[in-house]
Amino acid sequence: MKEIILLKDGEIVLKGLNRRSFEDVLKKNIKFVLNPIGRFEITSAQSTIYVKPLSEDIDLDEACERISRVFGIVAYSRAAVCEEKTLDSVLQTAPVYLEKTLESAKTFKVEAKRSDKRFPYKSPEICRELGGIILEKFPHLTVDVHNPELTVYVEIRDFGAYIHCNPEKGAGGIPVGTGGKAAVLISGGIDSPVAAYMMAKRGIKLTAVHFASPPYTSRRAEEKVVKLLQKVSRYAGGMTMYTVPFTKIQEEIKNDCPEELFTIIMRRLMMEISEKIALDNDCSALITGESLGQVASQTIGALGCTDEAADMVVFRPLIGMDKQEIIDISYKIDTYETSIEPYEDCCTVFTPKHPRTRPVLKYVKEAQEKAGFAPLVEEALQNLKITYISSDD
Ligand code: ATP
Ligand code: MG
Repeated sequence: MKEIILLKDGEIVLKGLNRRSFEDVLKKNIKFVLNPIGRFEITSAQSTIYVKPLSEDIDLDEACERISRVFGIVAYSRAAVCEEKTLDSVLQTAPVYLEKTLESAKTFKVEAKRSDKRFPYKSPEICRELGGIILEKFPHLTVDVHNPELTVYVEIRDFGAYIHCNPEKGAGGIPVGTGGKAAVLISGGIDSPVAAYMMAKRGIKLTAVHFASPPYTSRRAEEKVVKLLQKVSRYAGGMTMYTVPFTKIQEEIKNDCPEELFTIIMRRLMMEISEKIALDNDCSALITGESLGQVASQTIGALGCTDEAADMVVFRPLIGMDKQEIIDISYKIDTYETSIEPYEDCCTVFTPKHPRTRPVLKYVKEAQEKAGFAPLVEEALQNLKITYISSDD
C-alpha cells in the first residue's frame, strides 16, 4: 500500500500574502532534513504539505522523526493513498490500513473532509458508509462521536484520497529562515542552547559565537559546544560557529579592572565582539541565555550594563523562566546531558568573590575605557576560528 506523510501548516496561515514564500521556505527546510534518507516529492495545497517518498525502501518512521523537528508544522501523520479516488477504494483501504489500530481501540469515529467538491459523496455520507464497514469488520468497536479513542480521517483532495489517524503534534513555530538572522552567544551551559532553539522556533536563522580562553578553558569545552550546536541544528538547520580567542582579553580584565566588575566588563566585551561578528554575518540581533536574577551578572542592573554594550536588539528568550522550566526544554531537545558535562566555561575563569549586583554604568564604562580593550578586541576578531555545524543525525 502506498503511503505519504501529510503535514499541517502552522502559523504560516496567518501570513496573508507572504504565505507563498513562507511555504516555500518550509518546503525547502523539509527537503533539507529528509535529504539524507532518500528522495521525496514535496508539494502543498490547502494548508497541507504532501511529502511523497519516491522509492519503496524509504524509512517513513525516520522521515516522521525528522519532520517532527521542523518548525512551521503543527501536526503530521502518515497516510494511506487510496488506489483510486472513489468511495469503494476508501472503503477498501481504511480497514486494511488501520487494521492493527482498529483492533486495539474500543471507540472510534470517522471524520471526512472533501475539499474536492467534484467527489460525488458528501462528507456525512462518507462517514456513514465507512463507519458502517468498520463496525461490520471490527464488531468489538462502538462509535463515540464526542470522545472517541480513535478518529479515522478520510481526506478527499484534488490529488487523491487519503486515510489516516492519530496525527502527531509538530514542532510548531514558524519556518527557520523567515524571521531574519541573529547571532547566538553560546556557552557550554544549559541555558544558551535552549535560547538558540527558542529563537529558531520563531523563524530565526542562527549564527553561533563562542568565547574560549585556552588554556583556562579546554579543547573538550569547545568540543562540547560543537556537540550542543549539532543538537540545536536538528531544529535550527546548519550554522556557522565563530570561536573567539578570549584569553588575552580576560587576562587584561583581571590585571587592569576592579575585581567586583570583572564579570560585567567581560560580558560587555562579549556583547561588543558578538555584535561585530553579527554585523559581518548579516545578522540583525543577538541572542543570549540570560534569565533574570539567575546569577549576579543577570540582575536588572547588570543586564542594563551588558545591554548598553551593543546597539543591536538583544533577544533573551529565557528572561522570565525558572531554571527548571529551562531544564525541561533542554531535556526535550536532548541537550541536557551534554550541557552538564563538567568542562570550564570562560565565564567561570577569574570570577570575582563579590561581584557587583548593582553596577553603575558610568563607573563600569570608565573602568573599561581606562583599561583600553580596543587593540585586543581587534586582535581577537582577526583570529576567529570558523567551524561549520550541521545536525548530528
Ligand atoms: P548557560 O547555561 O547558557 O551557560 P549561565 O546561566 O551559565 O548560562 P552565564 O554563564 O552568566 O549564564 O552566561 C549568560 C549568557 O552569556 C549565556 O546564556 C550565553 O548566552 C552567554 N555566554 C556565557 N558564556 C559564554 C561563552 N563562553 N561564549 C559565548 N557566550 C557565552
Ligand atoms: Mg554559562
